[in-house]
Amino acid sequence: MIRIDDLTVRFGSAIAVDGFNLQVAVGESFGLVGESGSGKSTVLRTVMGLNRDWSGDIRISDIDVRKDRRQDLVHIAQMVFQDPYASLHPRYTIGEAIAEPMRINRIPDASGRTIELLEMIGLTAEHRFRFPHELSGGQRQRVAIARALSLSPRVLLLDEPTSALDVSVQAEILNLLNRLRRELNLTFVIVSHDLAVISYMCDRLMVMQNARSVETLTREQLRAGDMQSDYTRTLFKASHRHLKTV
Ligand code: ADP
Ligand code: MG
Repeated sequence: MIRIDDLTVRFGSAIAVDGFNLQVAVGESFGLVGESGSGKSTVLRTVMGLNRDWSGDIRISDIDVRKDRRQDLVHIAQMVFQDPYASLHPRYTIGEAIAEPMRINRIPDASGRTIELLEMIGLTAEHRFRFPHELSGGQRQRVAIARALSLSPRVLLLDEPTSALDVSVQAEILNLLNRLRRELNLTFVIVSHDLAVISYMCDRLMVMQNARSVETLTREQLRAGDMQSDYTRTLFKASHRHLKTV
């Protein structure tokens, strides 16, 4: 579903991602972990065509991110950001926010589909008249997910999707995402600094450090503590107690 070959991303003279490779299968849920600044968000944003200065090859389904139009890409892949408050316009109602990508892309019956999406993510048709500040943090993130699903993409790129939420709400959102992945046969790439989240959500994961990939593990290897690098082992130890609780 996703294939990245030898991706390097620069911001001026700084290299944010260096010689990065990734392959994610159809229907797989893949995790990216690593400390702040290691390049995780930059990988996702570059896949979505949001960075200019990069080299390498990025393919999603039959889209070549360098050559094909962004308009084609948004039907295949969508991104969900950490902070739904920042990603939802304060003056747009929830219904307008969800319908906007459909209107831009001339999808018929955007209103009917908006109600369908609201129900799919556990809200009701009535919620479409509310504004973002009239929802809880968890509800706002549900809306951001509904908006990301509005063009029926096959891939969701999720950047710290629960990091801004209360712990009690995090599990609800993760369970919602798992259900949606099953029901809609989606492929996920999930960025998180939290190994417990990755262990719960992902079949495989990659550990990043200083713009580079350190290693790739299966969920079973992660849970068994079966890892190659000292760096991954340190991350694992720091979160091990928490991992056992999920
Ligand atoms: P992570 O998501 O793993 O915390 P990022 O991908 O956000 O890391 O950042 C990787 C590196 O790229 C960091 O050094 C960061 O400061 C830099 N960076 C990210 N976005 C920009 C930008 N728009 N302009 C300049 N530098 C950036
Ligand atoms: Mg980030």
